[in-house]
Amino acid sequence: MRYLIISDIHGNLLALDAVLEAAPTYDQVWCLGDVVGYGPNPCECIHRLRELPHLTVAGNHDRAVTEDLNLDEFNADAQEAALWTRNQLSTAELDFLAQLPERRVAGEFTLVHGSPRHPIWEYILAISTARANFDYFDTSFCLVGHTHVPVIYTTPRNDTLTRCKAMAPRDAEELPLADTARMIINPGSVGQPRDGIPLASYALLDTETRLLSFHRQPYPIEEVQEQMHRANLPPRLIARLSFGW
Ligand code: ZN
Repeated sequence: MRYLIISDIHGNLLALDAVLEAAPTYDQVWCLGDVVGYGPNPCECIHRLRELPHLTVAGNHDRAVTEDLNLDEFNADAQEAALWTRNQLSTAELDFLAQLPERRVAGEFTLVHGSPRHPIWEYILAISTARANFDYFDTSFCLVGHTHVPVIYTTPRNDTLTRCKAMAPRDAEELPLADTARMIINPGSVGQPRDGIPLASYALLDTETRLLSFHRQPYPIEEVQEQMHRANLPPRLIARLSFGW
């Protein structure tokens, strides 16, 4: 089976469509949460995802619009965008987000937004955090999003305490899923990359060849920024798309 692995679309439909168009054939989309929040097309992104065969988990921005989640966890711009997003969504769209689970397991893979330890909120930004999280899933591999930075953390199967390595994947490089290692894999963000590269980020997985690859895709950033401007979304959120941070 072939999977398109995406995360953190954040209401950026043009980025999502660019990725869907660029990706080779796949059997299913695995989406690691934050379908909405920040971007100008939350409704359209939900509809596009629902047209596809998909497994999706909830992100903190998805929860923020469907629950009276304490928005104090968000900075001022994110709060404003969350309130704007909530007002755009129909009851059916809110229901779709509300029923997303925090965790799904598919074969050898666990899917969460933040981390297997705290699926909605924890950021895995450091090797020490990654290392601790290997104890919180039973499968060989865990797919996460939330940081908007593509990365792979690897640990030998029987040695989680002492050795854990981080690797920034190169564009289109094919990486084998080793039988002797466990991995936490982040495909980066479709709609708001934060690794200094403003291109949409995604990953492809083939469970027959056991190869994983990461990809970057250009999309019309200025058009999205123009849509955000017209929606009166916060200027800092508009500007950051140009820089990928
Ligand atoms: Zn996010």
